[in-house]
Amino acid sequence: MVNAYHAKVITLKGGEKVSKRDYYDVLGVDKNASQEDIKRAYRKLAMKYHPDRNPDDKNAEEKFKELNEAYEILSDPEKKQMYDQFGHAGVNGNAGGFGGQGGFSGYGGFGGFEDIFGDIFDMFGGGFSSRQRNAPRKGADIRKDIEITFEEAAFGTEKTIEFYKDENCDTCNGTGAKPGTSKTTCSKCKGTGEIRFVKRTPLGQIINSTICDNCNGEGEITDSPCSNCNGAGLERKLKKVKIKIPAGVDNGTVLPLRGEGEPGIKGGPHGDLFVVINVLPHKIFERDGYDIICEMPITFVQAALGDEVEVPTLEGKVKYKIPEGTQSGTVFRLRKRGIQNPRGLGKGDQYVKVIVEVPQNLSEKEKEILRQFAAVAGEETYEKRKSFFEKVKDVFGV
Ligand SMILES: [Zn+2]
Ligand SMILES: [Zn+2]
Repeated sequence: MVNAYHAKVITLKGGEKVSKRDYYDVLGVDKNASQEDIKRAYRKLAMKYHPDRNPDDKNAEEKFKELNEAYEILSDPEKKQMYDQFGHAGVNGNAGGFGGQGGFSGYGGFGGFEDIFGDIFDMFGGGFSSRQRNAPRKGADIRKDIEITFEEAAFGTEKTIEFYKDENCDTCNGTGAKPGTSKTTCSKCKGTGEIRFVKRTPLGQIINSTICDNCNGEGEITDSPCSNCNGAGLERKLKKVKIKIPAGVDNGTVLPLRGEGEPGIKGGPHGDLFVVINVLPHKIFERDGYDIICEMPITFVQAALGDEVEVPTLEGKVKYKIPEGTQSGTVFRLRKRGIQNPRGLGKGDQYVKVIVEVPQNLSEKEKEILRQFAAVAGEETYEKRKSFFEKVKDVFGV
C-alpha cells in the first residue's frame, strides 16, 4: 500500500504571483456570502455571459469560463475552505495554472443552457434536475498537516503519512449488497434513477424529471444490504501513503496528491489529498525565503583585532575571516549556503549577523588590563563615538 509520489510544489509565500482574479470578485459576493448568495450571483452572471446568448463573443466566453471556475470552487464547501485558506494555490494543481486538468476548456463539465437553469425550473415546477444529482461527482479532498524539521525542509525527505478515508468495503467488495446477494434494477424507474413528467410553467410546457423515490436515484435496489457497511459499499480505513518531500519546501507549502482523497460519487474520480507542511523552528537558523539567517556572538577582542571564526551552516562549519574593527550588527553574506529552490532556481545565501559580546564578570587582572588600554586609547579609536559627540556639540554649542 506504499506509493512514492513526486508531488508538485505550491509555494504560498514568497512565491510567484498568481494573476487570477479573486473568485469572490468574479462572482461579486463577499467572503461571508452564503451558499444561496453564491448560487444566486452565479446564476445571474451565467445567464448574462452564457455562450448561447453571446455567440462568437470571446470576452463573454472567457468571463463564462472564469465564472464557472469560481463557482465550482466556492459552491463546494471543502474547496471553498481550501481557497479561503490558501487562495488559488490551494485549489489548483499549481499556482498560476488555469484549471490544470483542462476541466474548463470549452466549459466542459457544464452542459447546455438547461443544465445551468435546471434549478430555475424548480421555482416554477418544484422538480429538480436529477441529471445533475445523478451525475458522477469527484470525491471530497482531504487535508493532512505534517511537521518536518528545518533540515528536512532544506534537503527534502520522505515521509509516510497516515490518514483515514473511505475505501471499498472488504465484506461486500464495494457493492453494498450482502455477499451472495446482488442488487436488482429498480422497477419504478427501470434503472434510470429518474422519473420524467411534463410540467406547465410560465415558460411553456417543459419536460421535467425528479429522482426516483424508490431507489433514491440509484437505479438499483439493495434487497439485503451488507451488514458491515450498511449497504454503503464503503468503510473507513487507515491509509498509509509514502510521499517524497522535495528540498526547499517552506512552512505552509501544500503538496497536492491527485486522486488520494475520498472516492468519487457515482463513479466520479477520487478527490485529492493536500499535505500541508509545517516546518519546526531551528535552534540557530531562521529562514527568509531561500536564504538562511543566523546571529553569531563574537568577543570584543575578535571584533577589534579580526579573527578567523567557524560559522555554522546547514552543511557543516565553514571558516570565515572577520576583519579588524568589525562592528556589532555587521552582516556577512555566505553565498550559496542557503536553501535549494525547489523550482531549480539555485540556492539562497546565508546571512550571518555578528553580535559583539561585552565581557562580563571580569577578574581584577582583566580589569587592570582594560584600564591600561583605555588610558592609551585615543579619540580616533572610537570613530562613531567621536562623530556622535561632534554632532552633540553642533546641537548644544558645547
Ligand atoms: Zn459492505
Ligand atoms: Zn428507481
